[in-house]
Parts: sequence; structure tokens; C-alpha cells
Amino acid sequence: MHINSVVEKTQKFINLFKILAGLNWGIHPKHLRRLYISIIRSRMDYACFLYDNAAKTHLINLDRVQNMAMRLIGGFVKSTAIHVMESELCLVPLHIRRVYLGSKFLFKSKAFSPSPVYTNIVELNANCQNYYWRSKKLPLLITIYRTFNSYNIHSSSKPEMYNLDTWVNYIDLDSVIMHDIPAIVKSKKKCDTKDIKVICSQFINDKYDNYHKIFTDASKKNEDEGIAFFDPQIGSSIKLKLNLNIPIMSAELIAIAECLSYIKSLGGKNFVILSDSKSALQHIKRCSWGYNGVPIAFVILNILKEFHKTNINVKLQWIPAHIGITGNEIVDKLAKEAIVDGHVINYLPSCSENLYRVKQYCFNLWSEYFNERSRTKGIWYRTVQPCLLQKPWFDNSNMSRSDVITSLRLRSGHFPLNSFAFLMKKVPSPNCSECGTIEDVYHILLECVRNEAERKQIEAALPYCFDFASCNSILASPNSAEAKMLYNMVQKGCKRRM
Ligand SMILES: [Zn+2]
Repeated sequence: MHINSVVEKTQKFINLFKILAGLNWGIHPKHLRRLYISIIRSRMDYACFLYDNAAKTHLINLDRVQNMAMRLIGGFVKSTAIHVMESELCLVPLHIRRVYLGSKFLFKSKAFSPSPVYTNIVELNANCQNYYWRSKKLPLLITIYRTFNSYNIHSSSKPEMYNLDTWVNYIDLDSVIMHDIPAIVKSKKKCDTKDIKVICSQFINDKYDNYHKIFTDASKKNEDEGIAFFDPQIGSSIKLKLNLNIPIMSAELIAIAECLSYIKSLGGKNFVILSDSKSALQHIKRCSWGYNGVPIAFVILNILKEFHKTNINVKLQWIPAHIGITGNEIVDKLAKEAIVDGHVINYLPSCSENLYRVKQYCFNLWSEYFNERSRTKGIWYRTVQPCLLQKPWFDNSNMSRSDVITSLRLRSGHFPLNSFAFLMKKVPSPNCSECGTIEDVYHILLECVRNEAERKQIEAALPYCFDFASCNSILASPNSAEAKMLYNMVQKGCKRRM
């Protein structure tokens, strides 16, 4: 019932998409893709993990909506394999999307204590232990519970931002957290690394002349994080290790928090923590504005508040990484070592930090699915694009809509030419009306007489031989100048067919 009504509701938007995406005109695929995510997929997302066990015949109707939308967004022809469209447009298959959203639900309910929802899930899991479920497919939420329940999570009775005092209103945080160095902002384009290093060292010496300086850094390798701080005045350093697979920014924040605890144990009035993570410093600042960030950022804000009360002056200053500032280089090395031999510390990840791990888990599921499908279908595509992209390649390009669509079709290996129209029983012959041989992607790229002039131009421009293999490697970088020449050639050839 619910699925049918969702399909019905999305249908009118699909019809709208048909109007928005004409053959030679229409909205750019990147905008159409976003529109799909916000107005169609959002409707299918709602509570989707609850009906994952519904009959396949129903679920397939939802898949059809996404497939139809993908064809319209990318201008793909009917014969294009689904996993190819999903990969090109970076739209995750719905069954994996349900795993992600189910996990999000689980972690969100777990992040609040006490949580009646979470108690119910635990109870449901116990009920699913019995004989009946042994031969049946478990409800998705239970499978997710069993997969991720070992992940610890930071829980509280209210969002962290409500645990903050109003103190942030009367401390001028702009003078505590500095995520820029003014002189560098101005001269970054003109200077090389050496000059930046000089400017930077000069700046630190001038501004923090009588300050106790401490450097912090974090490093990540696969699923492990190392964090470290280094105090050149005392010559002491600390190496800590987390094996949680959390975002690098969180690790940088933990490094800063650990460093603040260290400062507490020292005597003195003026301290500056030098970190090369701009995003971490900006995150702390945003949290003070009421943005609900990771819990560790609020820990930092609370420690800063304590220091402010006791008149200890602590600043957080950003410095550029990898330009040869001695303290930064040392702490960078220490953080890398910490991944291997650091002292393991306990840290409870927040909901969003756990979701970072779930995202990777789902991406791996998708990759497995993609590899499996690529064995039988979309073999050409696999040679052009051997693994999944994190975001669509056309998102940040300035290519026109028709160029993007030509590229998507060429990359997928399915183009609306006679060989395809013949399969669809729209034309009597699969042959090119000009050349008399089969008209497919290979033909229009390398044989057709209609675009011979443009082909000659490409052959002259390329430093290597123009053949099917080089077409393949050109299409592997769809934003390159060579690829644009290729699109132009194919488009000219198609125009002359009319
Ligand atoms: Zn031809």
C-alpha cells in the first residue's frame, strides 16, 4: 500500500522530468540530479528501511522510479545497464540506501538516553532469535543492529549545543580561534613555499612572542588514527592512538582537547596551540554559534571557558602544513608514528562520526555489487571507469549539457544510433545509411564518413595513434581537452544523420 502510493506520488515528478529534459535542450544533468535527490528520492527515503522485507514485486516498482529518473537525468538510452547509470550519476542502489538510512536511524536512537526506540529495537532483536526466523530473511533493522551494535556511541539526553552556557556571547572567540594568517591570505598566489614559511615564522614570533607554543597534529591511515602534540619549550611530546575509523577532523579535535588538558597541568598565563587543521578550528567556531557539531568540539569550548574564568590566555592558531615549520614537521612525524606505537585512548564517537564508518561500509557494499554486475554487463564501461566515483565527474565541470550527455552515452557504450534503434524495432536496418556497415559507437568514433573531417583533426592533434584503445583512455578522463574534441566529432556526425 505505502509503496504503491509512493510510486504514484513520484510519478508526476517523473513526468515533470520528462519535460525538463528534452533531447537537445533542458536542464543540466548536475542540476537535474540534485532535483531528483531532493524531490523524488526524499519521498522514497521516508521510513524505507521498514519495508525492506516487502515482496520483490513491490520493491522493484521503486527501483523502476530511480532507473527512469536516471535515464532522464543522463540522457541514457534504454539498453544502458542500471549499475552503469548508478555509477555515472553516483546514485546508490536503493537497497543499499536502505541499509544506510536504517543505520542512521539506529545510531540516532542510540545517541539519546534514555531511548525508548532503542529499547524496542533491542527487544525486537531478542524476538528474532527464535526458531521461526531461522530460515527467514531478518528485518533490515535487526540485521543492521547485529552488524553495528558493537560500535560504541556517545549518548546524552539532549544535543550538545544545549549544554553550552551563554558565555560564548561575551567572549570574543574571534580573538581566541584564528583560522587564518592575514599576510598569507593576501600573498598566497604570489609566493612559493619558502616565502610562506618566512612570513609564517615571522607572524608566529611577532604575535606570540611571550607565549608557550604547542603544536598538535593528527594522521590517518586506513582505519587507524594517530594523534600527537609537541611542546618545544619543555621538549615533551605525547603520542596517542585511536582505532575507530573516524573522520580526520575529529582526530584533530581530539589532539587539541588532549593538548588543552596538558596545558592545565602546566603553570603559566599565555599559551598558543598551533594546528594545521583549518576545518577543525572552523568547526569549533561554528559550534559556538549554535551549530550542532561533534561532542569533542563542545568539550574544547568548555575547557576554553574554564581557562577564560581563571584568566589563563589560550589561543588556537592555524598554520599551513608541509611548508617546513619545524614544530609542525616534528608533530606531523609523531602523529604518523602514533598510528603504530601510540598509547591507545578511549573515545566515544558521536552519531555523525559513526555514520562516517557506515558510509564507508555502504560504499564497499556498492562496490561489490558494481563489480558483480560488471562481469556480465557494462563491460566497456568497466574498462573506461574501473571503480566507483565518490561524486559525479561533471559536478564541477563547465561543460554544456549536450557535451555531458554525449560523454555519458559514449562512456556507457550505448548511443542512440541505428544498431540500437534496430533493436528497439524502430528502423529496418542496423546499418549506417551513408556507409552501409553496422552503425554503433565504434562506427561513429572510428569509421563513419560523415565526421571524417573532424576525425582527421583529432588524429593530427594527438601525439599518439587514434584508435579504439585511445578512445577508451580519452573517455576515462571525461573533462580533458581531448575528450571535448571527441564529443564535438561525435555530435557533428550525429547532426549530419538527420
Ligand atoms: Zn557511417
